[in-house]
Amino acid sequence: MHEFSLVESILTSVFDVARQHGNPPVTRVKLEVGALQQVVPEALEFAFNAAVKGTSAEGAVLDWTEIPARIQCPACHATYEPADVFWVCPNCEAQGGKAIAGDDIVLASVELEDGESGQGVQ
Ligand SMILES: [Zn+2]
Repeated sequence: MHEFSLVESILTSVFDVARQHGNPPVTRVKLEVGALQQVVPEALEFAFNAAVKGTSAEGAVLDWTEIPARIQCPACHATYEPADVFWVCPNCEAQGGKAIAGDDIVLASVELEDGESGQGVQ
């Protein structure tokens, strides 16, 4: 499952942040999830809760914001938000293009029990 490997790499960064602060329990993890990742929220949460069991992040709240996709047209270079899985430029109707936003998952912040937080990780 896609979500499990995502969670694994997210947690690697989360624990890096926690370690830099002396390993306090992690209370909240905030993610920015690109729409193109097609993450299923319930599956992400399930994978997260399973992966943090027995770690210092057990019981941490998972928050995320979805980042809309933006595609750059290969023909006219206009950027647009795709209406569905088929990318068609609204300007010139060329198909395809390059994803310039919404194609990744970023760890936005990590909150730790002692009130410290790591910002802009990754
Ligand atoms: Zn175009």
